Amino acid sequence: MKELDLTKVTEEVARLCIEANYFIGKDVMGKIKEALEKEESPVGKNILEQIITNDGIAADDQVPMCQDTGLAVVFLEVGTEVKINGDIYEAINAGVRKGYEEGYLRKSAVRHPLDRVNTKDNTPAIIHTKLVPGSDKVKIIVAPKGGGSENMSYVKMLAPAAGVEGVKNLIIEAIKAGGGNPCPPMVVGVGLGGTFEKAALLAKEALMRDLNDKSPDPVNAKLEDELLELINNTGVGPLGLGGKVTALTVKVNSYPCHIASLPVAVNINCHAARHKEVIL
Ligand code: SF4
Repeated sequence: MKELDLTKVTEEVARLCIEANYFIGKDVMGKIKEALEKEESPVGKNILEQIITNDGIAADDQVPMCQDTGLAVVFLEVGTEVKINGDIYEAINAGVRKGYEEGYLRKSAVRHPLDRVNTKDNTPAIIHTKLVPGSDKVKIIVAPKGGGSENMSYVKMLAPAAGVEGVKNLIIEAIKAGGGNPCPPMVVGVGLGGTFEKAALLAKEALMRDLNDKSPDPVNAKLEDELLELINNTGVGPLGLGGKVTALTVKVNSYPCHIASLPVAVNINCHAARHKEVIL
């Protein structure tokens, strides 16, 4: 069995927090440049040019691409052939603390949703863990999640009879209601199936996919294309000021569900769709 070095986990999480905030993903930048080609609205084009300039400055000067440097969402995949001596969750939180301090990233976590007292170090991270049978690796994805886009997300339990049209209507409703709040052009993650909480997690996981991939499930792949067209036809446009490009892409992840349920979740990432990963 391989023993995991928890000091390394802390170091790597700190690095990923910083790099996710400073360096836009190549796939995201590629999609923003494609959007600039497609956009017809002069205001929309100008916004996309400014986003490209902003992301370039952030990378060159090593500063955050947005003032909202997010709550630290961490996806942890642990192989069953890995031995962990100690508290891996504390090691991750120590990394978040270190990264947000050393990278001059805004601390955006409050202790309780009602008393709103800032924890002052951006912890605790939101950590999702999966076991991987037979593997001796640990994969860590750090995804700083901004409040503006997260607030426009939701979960709804539809009746199965609502079908694919019900799903599409719900998502379009969410995009229109969100308008410019999630800082479009956005990445739309859709979770279909499972239960109430599983659907939300599926939608969040969908946001971790490479923006250029396609769902291997033909039903989901078709829905991704159809939703992208419908969302871009809403006319919301870059930053909600009108235009052809409202979403950069749509990702649909699904899971089996109860015969009486059709859970649907929408989780939105803004144009600063941030996530970086490491395999240890
Ligand atoms: S939604 Fe994204 S771009 Fe807009 S303020 Fe939040 S993190 Fe920044």
